Amino acid sequence: MFEKILIANRGEIALRVIRAAREMGIATVAVHSTADADAMHVRMADESVCIGPPSGTLSYLSIPAIMAACEITGAEAIHPGYGFLSENAAFAQIIADHGLTFIGPTAEHIRVMGDKITAKDTMKALGVPCVPGSDGGVPDLETARSLSAEMGYPVIIKATAGGGGRGMKVARNESEIESAFRTARSEAKAAFGNDEVYIEKYLTTPRHIEIQVFGDGKGRAVHLGERDCSLQRRHQKVFEEAPGPGISEQERAEIGAICANAVAKINYIGAGTIEFLYENGEFYFIEMNTRLQVEHPVTEGIFGVDLVREQIRVAAGLPMSFEQDDLKINGHAIEVRINAERLPNFSPCPGRITQYHAPGGLGVRMDSALYDGYSIPPYYDSLIGKLIVHGRDRKEAIARLDRALGELIVDGVDTTVPLFHALLQEPDIHTGSYNIHWLEKWLEGKFGA
Ligand code: ADP
Repeated sequence: MFEKILIANRGEIALRVIRAAREMGIATVAVHSTADADAMHVRMADESVCIGPPSGTLSYLSIPAIMAACEITGAEAIHPGYGFLSENAAFAQIIADHGLTFIGPTAEHIRVMGDKITAKDTMKALGVPCVPGSDGGVPDLETARSLSAEMGYPVIIKATAGGGGRGMKVARNESEIESAFRTARSEAKAAFGNDEVYIEKYLTTPRHIEIQVFGDGKGRAVHLGERDCSLQRRHQKVFEEAPGPGISEQERAEIGAICANAVAKINYIGAGTIEFLYENGEFYFIEMNTRLQVEHPVTEGIFGVDLVREQIRVAAGLPMSFEQDDLKINGHAIEVRINAERLPNFSPCPGRITQYHAPGGLGVRMDSALYDGYSIPPYYDSLIGKLIVHGRDRKEAIARLDRALGELIVDGVDTTVPLFHALLQEPDIHTGSYNIHWLEKWLEGKFGA
């Protein structure tokens, strides 16, 4: 096992990794920008190294600075968290080339899944159901037009290098195809420096269901069921739960087995998420994330496992500590993302926290790097905490969420907490009747936003 690991991240996810490492008896190194000198992850780690100025590009995304921090401290492995360098194949490769361990999949797996066309081709070949669409990239408007006519409208044009919901355009009918194709291409070129696009059938009322997988890198893999992350604003998840309302045990076992087999076949190592759109009882693959997800705690809640501990174990060459048959679902878990944002526009709201009080009690987990007097810097993501609740069933989890939100105090900045109070008044949330468009429609009705 490693003696010391470095966490190439900040905020709640850096704490999450430090906590797992400490329980395993592993020393931790935090890295930080000058803006984060007083951050909680720096205080909680055994050692810390300043790696640059506030700008993420010059600090948390600076591979040379992070490699130097490893060298100075003698850390043997690097956990990338999520975001920043977590899906950067070059980073994983450089770490391996220096004889260190990247706590995550291989550079090759990151590369394959990072290109959406290659990812889709790979998954299709591995027997994973995909959204009907073009075979690979669509070179010109004429091809886009004839493919769409064949497939039937609506269609969605997507950037092969896409991410974060950018470079995607829907064409509802033939008259919209030209502008959708041209806009998607130019957005893709501007955002990713690659204008290759592909076409998919546009599903009108799907849910976002993702399967958590985990591999040992030696041909064994398991699945840990699904998470429903359909409540999204601008393709950003805000509320996630597991298991997915309305997903049957049989559906879970079937799609879970398909996913576990697929990643076993490619000798995938560590945690991964295979994302699907789910409509009329069918799953359609959209992408695979080769890292730990923000919403992993809901899976931990219902399976009672520590996914970060498992990531560290398999990275050190140890076997996973569970097999498929050991993984039984217990109850229901929900996570809400607390962002420092001002409603109704969700504009970032950094500033000083004058008072912070985390909720507690049975079945309540608060993953946050906040403390009294902390100043949220304006340079990074606005996620400041995740409130995760677990109950014996969905109803109990919702009641617990309501209770815990009532106990939470974050004074000094605006947050998304009022959004969750309001959502819990909605019958559709209580019955679990929502798809990926529900939240935006609801916000429109509420705020006209
Ligand atoms: P990104 O990597 O940019 O997040 P994804 O491929 O994961 O892109 O898609 C993001 C979101 O876009 C999905 O969660 C869904 O809301 C929507 N979307 C993507 N493909 C389709 C499709 N074929 N039909 C309907 N909606 C889609």
